[in-house]
Amino acid sequence: MSIDIRLPQPESAPDQGIKEYSDPSPMTPVQPVQLGPNDTFQFRCHKGIACFNKCCQNIDIMLAPYDILRLKNRLRISSRDFLDNFTRDFAMDGHGMPGLKLATRDESPACVFLTPEGCGVYADRPSACRYYALGLLSMRKKDSPTDEDSYFVVKEDHCLGHQEAKTQTVGEYRKEQGLEDYDAINRDWRQIVLKKRSSGPTVGRPSERSMELFFLASYDLDGFRDFISTPGFTDLFELDPAENEALLASEERLLGFAFRFLKQALYGEITIPIRADAAEKRRERYRQRVEQMERDAVDSKVFDQDAQYESLKYEKDDE
Ligand code: SF4
Ligand code: SF4
Repeated sequence: MSIDIRLPQPESAPDQGIKEYSDPSPMTPVQPVQLGPNDTFQFRCHKGIACFNKCCQNIDIMLAPYDILRLKNRLRISSRDFLDNFTRDFAMDGHGMPGLKLATRDESPACVFLTPEGCGVYADRPSACRYYALGLLSMRKKDSPTDEDSYFVVKEDHCLGHQEAKTQTVGEYRKEQGLEDYDAINRDWRQIVLKKRSSGPTVGRPSERSMELFFLASYDLDGFRDFISTPGFTDLFELDPAENEALLASEERLLGFAFRFLKQALYGEITIPIRADAAEKRRERYRQRVEQMERDAVDSKVFDQDAQYESLKYEKDDE
């Protein structure tokens, strides 16, 4: 299974949008026909099929933020533990925008969650697994603020599901696979990534700090929850106490807030109100830090002088 949610938009591509799969090579499993929600395709996957589990034995699966939320909760671990143990890093673009893929086993390209009985995390499997054997293509047209989705069929030789006598619309398949929730929650994030990729050089190379924030807000939700309680964050942003409480009570809402934060941090959109006194508070904190550093420097000098006199005293005593 090597199809993921298609986000990439080559920065050299014409800015009227992408057609990444409009001219696939004869070897590609991607069918060169874009489908809409009402278009039909023939496919059925079930436990009794001869190729059962084949698609999970050689994976290349990109993870989106809601995938991680669902999986870490299923495993009852923190997002940090999930990232450390079940993902591997990759760069989503030439500027090193951080992406994550689902980990494979040490000894093979099989998914870490594959069991002889099938997917070990089936109810919370990532959206790319739910889409297969469809792929999702997100693209943005020139001057459009939002992306548009289309779909394509992926026919890999080992997958016998295409020979099964079941025809459904793309919309029916998405519903059956529980994709509506996944897409609704991940949509804002996909737009954030697409905006970066479609803007290319006009947005420019992101700073290291902005990429750290992108990683934190996209993938490490428990870390992001701690982050919004830090004085640095609460001094800068005006967060209504009721909203703050709601964010702490619902991870889905927290993730939505993380995407709002990213729009502000990466693109300067005002999605979270900034405190009127934020600049003054930052200056005050800076002043306090400088004063503390000066006090530390004086203490250190006094200590050095004391040590010097101590050694003189001992030398005198020794005489
Ligand atoms: S998460 Fe489940 S469905 Fe997805 S590749 Fe792994 S075993 Fe297969
Ligand atoms: S039909 Fe395709 S998707 Fe289903 S188990 Fe077989 S290879 Fe995997």
